[in-house]
Amino acid sequence: SVQKLSGIQLPRYARVNTLKTTVEDAVDYLKRDGFSYLGHASSLKDLTLRKKDFMIDMHLPELLVFSPKTDFHDHFLYTAGHFILQDKASCLPAYLLNPPVGSHLIDACAAPGNKTSHLAAIMKNKGRLFAFDLDAKRLATMSTLLLRAGVTCQRLANQDFLTVDPDSQEFKDVEYVLLDPSCSGSGMVCLRDDASSANQDKVQARLASLASFQLRCLNHGLKFPRLKRLVYSTCSVHRQENEDVVAACLQQNPGFSTAKTRTQGFFVALLEKHSGAGSPRP
Ligand code: SAM
Repeated sequence: SVQKLSGIQLPRYARVNTLKTTVEDAVDYLKRDGFSYLGHASSLKDLTLRKKDFMIDMHLPELLVFSPKTDFHDHFLYTAGHFILQDKASCLPAYLLNPPVGSHLIDACAAPGNKTSHLAAIMKNKGRLFAFDLDAKRLATMSTLLLRAGVTCQRLANQDFLTVDPDSQEFKDVEYVLLDPSCSGSGMVCLRDDASSANQDKVQARLASLASFQLRCLNHGLKFPRLKRLVYSTCSVHRQENEDVVAACLQQNPGFSTAKTRTQGFFVALLEKHSGAGSPRP
């Protein structure tokens, strides 16, 4: 549960940016820099790392795992864009969407762009990555981060995703959508709600408003005519923003657990559209 998790120190995760380097080269660099490489993790227990130990994650082959609080902010691998400092949970949406090289896709709420750069790496910078964000300042930061990460297939727009026309010629080949909308952030260990808060009414009203926005975004994302796959993610642990949103959209309740994953609480839903003789099935 949220309460039980709050005492756990999460590992430091670093995603190797394959647009700039390889996992092998990053591992070699770290070894020369005094880190001790312990190989591939095979269970969560392995991820209890000390000091300068590090491993490759057991689920995501481009994710390196370090002891909690390892600081890379001034490290060459980070400043040169070889490392993206991203929690494991936040790497799952792009990994699950898995857009093919050369595909057209939309990152609907994209800034500051950690998932955008991950998507670009999966696409090997080939294809078209339309990225929208309402917030001009966050989008400017994103531009800098993408430049540093060597991303070149993006088309950034400071636009409300809900006003993007799914029938525009520009998006006629869009088959993949990543939707990571604004949320309460309740899965972030540092932002956990205060359960004893006297402001429960306010909290509930905020959640209802967020969920209504998230549902509108999700419905909008499904309108792109050639859509094959959509990933919906939040960094919230509230079902109002997660299962309830997806259930309201698709009458489906996937169910999930955030316990003991040693990641931030997160939610990802993968919706796949199958073409066939009958009407499309979610
Ligand atoms: N995907 C980002 C990443 O991994 O770095 C994080 C996205 S953050 C959770 C949500 C973003 O949605 C914010 O940057 C916010 O400005 C943007 N946003 C909120 N409403 C929006 C809308 N209607 N259209 C587009 N972007 C929106």
